[in-house]
Amino acid sequence: MDLGPAGRQEARVSQARVCVGEATVEAHLTWRVHAKRDPALRRLLRALYQHRREILAHYPAVPIADETEIAAIILLWERWESLRGRCPECGSDVLGVGLGGLLSIGVVTGCCLGCARLLSHDIGGAPSIQSAVTDWLRDTPYRLTLMSRPTPPSSGQLAYGGWGWGLSAALPELTAVLEELGAFDSDAAPPPSR
Ligand SMILES: [Zn+2]
Repeated sequence: MDLGPAGRQEARVSQARVCVGEATVEAHLTWRVHAKRDPALRRLLRALYQHRREILAHYPAVPIADETEIAAIILLWERWESLRGRCPECGSDVLGVGLGGLLSIGVVTGCCLGCARLLSHDIGGAPSIQSAVTDWLRDTPYRLTLMSRPTPPSSGQLAYGGWGWGLSAALPELTAVLEELGAFDSDAAPPPSR
């Protein structure tokens, strides 16, 4: 379903349905909905995606994992349709937060900005994921490299073997930048319980 330019510019945060991007949702990309939710990751994603312009302009090099800088994942969200979508459960935007796989099969993990559920869809194997990522970032100084180790369980991602990359909700430096930008001020969701 193409909502047209007006629909794409939707930028509101509500508990019912959350759509923050102007990017077109790829209609044929079907995300599987998982039972597991990650409210802490949702909170970070909402703040980050809504302030992505300021982050790209002023804090592009904030580290998020190994040698990955925040600008890499923001640019990938904007450029690569495989990392965006719509939650079949609540209709909110989904952003890809994990990539990984074996030689010939792979999975993109996403998190719903509305209901915080984790979602996934199949994609080619790790070599083709890495090649796509490299292509999308080629004209930028930013890189994202799949690592040959499992995603840490603390990151809330779905498990996969082989090579992977995942965004964690526990990023003190990024959280500090977002706080400085006032990104959590209008936070409708309660802070994650510990
Ligand atoms: Zn949802």
